[in-house]
Amino acid sequence: SQQQGGNRYECYQETWQRKDDDQIALENDLRRALEQNEFQLYYQPKVDLKTGQIIGAEALIRWIDSKRGFVSPGVFIPLAEEIGLIEAIGEWVLRTACKQTKAWHRLGLKEMQIAVNLSGRQFNLPDIRQRVLEVLLSEGLPPSCLELELTESFLIEHEDSSIQKLNRLKALGLQIAIDDFGTGYSSLSYLQQFPFDVLKLDRCFIQDINQNQKNQVIVEAVIKMAHELNLQVVAEGVETQAELELLRQYQCDIIQGYLLSRPLPPQDFQNLVESNKYL
Ligand code: C2E
Ligand code: CA
Ligand code: CA
Ligand code: CA
Repeated sequence: SQQQGGNRYECYQETWQRKDDDQIALENDLRRALEQNEFQLYYQPKVDLKTGQIIGAEALIRWIDSKRGFVSPGVFIPLAEEIGLIEAIGEWVLRTACKQTKAWHRLGLKEMQIAVNLSGRQFNLPDIRQRVLEVLLSEGLPPSCLELELTESFLIEHEDSSIQKLNRLKALGLQIAIDDFGTGYSSLSYLQQFPFDVLKLDRCFIQDINQNQKNQVIVEAVIKMAHELNLQVVAEGVETQAELELLRQYQCDIIQGYLLSRPLPPQDFQNLVESNKYL
């Protein structure tokens, strides 16, 4: 190892080294979390704006590490993708979400739908259709109650095979949502090319919509266009009643956000649905 030289290069190397160690430690903790079943799923309600009813939930993964505390999925999901753990984590998420939703059906929460985030690497598995089918069959969840949320980022590279793959997944009877719509590239051509059922408008368009007239124009136009293309629209990140009113005016179909509820543990989600007191 180097002697104390105090030069910049050494400095740089030290921070680099440290970052590397942190990364490796996080990777190890992530692998252990998977092995020891330390992940949890939370459920954020989605409400139909026409009826005011909770029609389903988005499943969102949670990890509370004994040393680190809460680690955001925004941090560990990209890492899990990088190191190839996402396939296994994603499979756990899918199975757990379907099992929970089936349990809710049995408890009388009839036809509750579940939306599950599918990472690009998971989608690219050659047998993804078979894997999804296996989970649906073994958990006994009707395919029509499952929605898979995909971001456009990974559809760019192999367009033709992605379209084929999406169609084969859809043929199982489930729905496909394009997530974070409006944040990536060539969004509009994607809508026309890919067989999506649902468009999730990204939170960035919603968060300042009452002050930002440009975003109002965009949101209204996207909702109109989506409806012309027979897509349902879900608005993410709805935090205020004023945002809700505007989205209702634009005939948005479904909303999701802190206004209704943060993502909840399963029992809390069930209590909320049963209380009928969310809007
Ligand atoms: P996403 O799929 O866009 O999920 C929506 C995120 O917005 C969630 O953050 C949710 O808690 C948050 N959110 C919902 N309503 C509001 C609101 O009104 N205001 C604000 N400020 N935020 C709101 P979360 O749970 O931290 O997840 C972050 C991202 O991590 C997700 O973004 C998704 O890309 C990824 N992720 C989470 N769970 C999973 C999973 O099970 N599998 C995969 N592949 N990715 C996941
Ligand atoms: Ca999502
Ligand atoms: Ca999103
Ligand atoms: Ca996102």
